[in-house]
Amino acid sequence: MTEIPKDHPRYESLLAREKVAAGVKMGITSIQGLIAQGRGESFDYLIGERSTKSALYAERAAVAALLLAKNPVISVNGNVAALAPDKVVALADVTGAKLEVNLFHRTETRVHLIIEQLKANGASEVLGKNPDATLELSHDRRLVDSRGIYSADVVLVPLEDGDRCEKLVEMGKTVITIDLNPFSRTSRTATISIVDNLTRALDNMIKLGVELKKERKEELVKLITTYENKRVLSEAISEIQENLKAMAAEVEY
Ligand code: ATP
Ligand code: MG
Repeated sequence: MTEIPKDHPRYESLLAREKVAAGVKMGITSIQGLIAQGRGESFDYLIGERSTKSALYAERAAVAALLLAKNPVISVNGNVAALAPDKVVALADVTGAKLEVNLFHRTETRVHLIIEQLKANGASEVLGKNPDATLELSHDRRLVDSRGIYSADVVLVPLEDGDRCEKLVEMGKTVITIDLNPFSRTSRTATISIVDNLTRALDNMIKLGVELKKERKEELVKLITTYENKRVLSEAISEIQENLKAMAAEVEY
């Protein structure tokens, strides 16, 4: 990896880029994953590279849903494994969720390497190597584990593809997504849409996990029953608008 100086004004963003590029070199991230990261970066610019109020509200509800779930599962793809393997393992630990590798560009080698990457970051069990169930999809993201995504009541699917998200919602699951693009099909179909950068969202969710674990069950239920995803999506778009207006006002003619 290229050494990024810590005082570089775009340190976080450049580091993330290096991590995804390293993921491709290691064979855990697909080459298409680079494009997905680039699209995410552009939305992050528009959002102002911060966790907005609506994102934090969605993150709180998402953690409550994971904590209350009977069988919560976190789905991991090549970008997630490259960018935040330690953070998904920490979130799984704090919420009691299982980890399952699920890939659009699936090869057995990539599945193996991602599982090893998660284990090197402290995961004890990772599903996804021997899928024994299928979702009604025409691509490899259909391959799932009956103990994991297939039977899960709550699934966190960071950096998801729209059609699988739709399918999981159709199956009656609570689907939590992390996607910087509020216009994607993923964001528009999820039960809880977190419009935030993966690494910021996971950091927030780990902290919220520690905090909400101490809450009474009724408080967690209240966070979910009062949660309004349509409002979150609408606010996420308004937050972009406001950020753009503020930036336009700063430009000197
Ligand atoms: P959809 O199928 O939901 O309409 P898409 O086809 O436009 O989405 P995909 O390539 O399926 O997009 O998924 C990648 C998504 O992940 C993009 O919307 C991108 O904004 C988002 N993304 C990429 N990197 C990050 C990141 N680091 N943090 C958060 N979101 C990200
Ligand atoms: Mg897509």
